[in-house]
Amino acid sequence: MTDKQNQGWNLENTYQQLPDLFYTNVEPAKTDDPEFIIYNENLAAELGLDSSALKDEAEIFAGNKLPDGSDPIAQAYAGHQFGSFTMLGDGRAVLFGEQLTPNGKRYDIQLKGSGRTPYSRGGDGRAVLGPMLREYLISEAMHGLGIPTSRSLAVAATGETVLREAPMPGAVLTRVAKSHIRVGTFQYARQWGSKEDLQALADYSIKRHYPEIEADKDRYLTFLYKVADKQAALIADWQLKGFIHGVMNTDNVAISGETIDYGPCAFMDQYDRKTVFSSIDQQGRYSYGNQPGIGAWNMARFAESLLILMNEDEEQAIPKAKEAVETYVQSVEDYWLEGMRQKLGIVDKSDNDKTLIQNLLDLMEKYRADFNNTFRSLTLQQLDADSALFQSSAFKEWHQAWQDKLEKQSASLEDAYQLMKQHNPSIIPRNYLVEEVLAAAVEKGDYEPFRALLAALKDPYAYTEEQEKYAVNPPEQDYQTFCGT
Ligand code: AMP
Ligand code: MG
Repeated sequence: MTDKQNQGWNLENTYQQLPDLFYTNVEPAKTDDPEFIIYNENLAAELGLDSSALKDEAEIFAGNKLPDGSDPIAQAYAGHQFGSFTMLGDGRAVLFGEQLTPNGKRYDIQLKGSGRTPYSRGGDGRAVLGPMLREYLISEAMHGLGIPTSRSLAVAATGETVLREAPMPGAVLTRVAKSHIRVGTFQYARQWGSKEDLQALADYSIKRHYPEIEADKDRYLTFLYKVADKQAALIADWQLKGFIHGVMNTDNVAISGETIDYGPCAFMDQYDRKTVFSSIDQQGRYSYGNQPGIGAWNMARFAESLLILMNEDEEQAIPKAKEAVETYVQSVEDYWLEGMRQKLGIVDKSDNDKTLIQNLLDLMEKYRADFNNTFRSLTLQQLDADSALFQSSAFKEWHQAWQDKLEKQSASLEDAYQLMKQHNPSIIPRNYLVEEVLAAAVEKGDYEPFRALLAALKDPYAYTEEQEKYAVNPPEQDYQTFCGT
């Protein structure tokens, strides 16, 4: 039962049991004229919040009023940004606390865009409406796709004007995550804390995210394996859905294994391993094809920060830590291969599956075929006559080999196609759709297109008629996304 009076808040602040260097107590900035924009009733229910009392609560979601039990903080962390190590921290975010849900789970409730903190450096601590709505939409779409992710509970406009390339409406996003502990939090502890500080963070993180290894005698090494396995599964998932995170800096890698820090992320249309959307990623460091490898680089940085906990003499710990990172490399490949089999309805594994899959991807790249729609068409057995890929003789040959395989395997063809439906979404938040609905919302105050797209993305494997209109091949365009907006 939710407590009407306190709106169902059941907040704890266990992060503050950590040494002081990990956070600063800070209140969100007050805003003059908050306005409620959007609210996630389903998520609120999971969190045990009382929507009838919260639905119009702009004051809380804009940062003017603290929810019951909140003792807000900004978290300290560091990170490698495009390869360079630097001090960071929540420069425009404030953690209300950790909500304990009716079924015993713990989630951070954080405001993003709620004003300056001691970690803001030169930034204004603010966020603007378009990008916060974008994060809301994409994170909820990721959740619908079954990819671990932070969620979005609400967006409130602050009524203030925030200066970016032009004056823009300010907004605050309420973000929900298993935690916001990052690889960069460990790097921060290693760089500026004592060994005890680092150990406190590791023990806290293990207790919170991997309690099953608390009693393990090599628990910091096991912790590294656990986090690396979660990253491998996550990044394989991104690859399988064509998601490009865009800023895989170590401060944006959550040790819970959730996707966090939506910035210049976007879904790939035409399959091309070199795809980059972010305007600041000139070298393509975080391109689609580089994501699994960057995951290994990030895990190596995580491993380095833990060495001293594994062995007083860090050198001695290196070989085992290396092995853990190498395991990641194998795991990301294994998760990906398993996922690709499912996308193609393959249940009986064989050694040449990888070649079959790779041949299809090479053809898709050659013909600039749409990534998601190629799999969608294979799933629906609708190979359009005007597709250059489907009309090519190389593809026809591939298709025959694939069909031969499906016919010979232990599962029926019907079951194979059923499996494909569960793994190939009929809809993804395509760039042009996202831009359209954001323009309607931000420029015209018309939220209907946004809500309709959000609703269609809720169950992307449903293959409803409504979803069909969002699935047409998009126009080829140069799409750019921007960071820190
Ligand atoms: P991100 O690109 O979101 O991962 O952010 C990188 C760092 O920049 C984090 O420390 C953020 O808190 C900080 N940051 C981003 N935007 C702002 C802003 N408008 N004001 C202050 N800090 C910011
Ligand atoms: Mg970040």
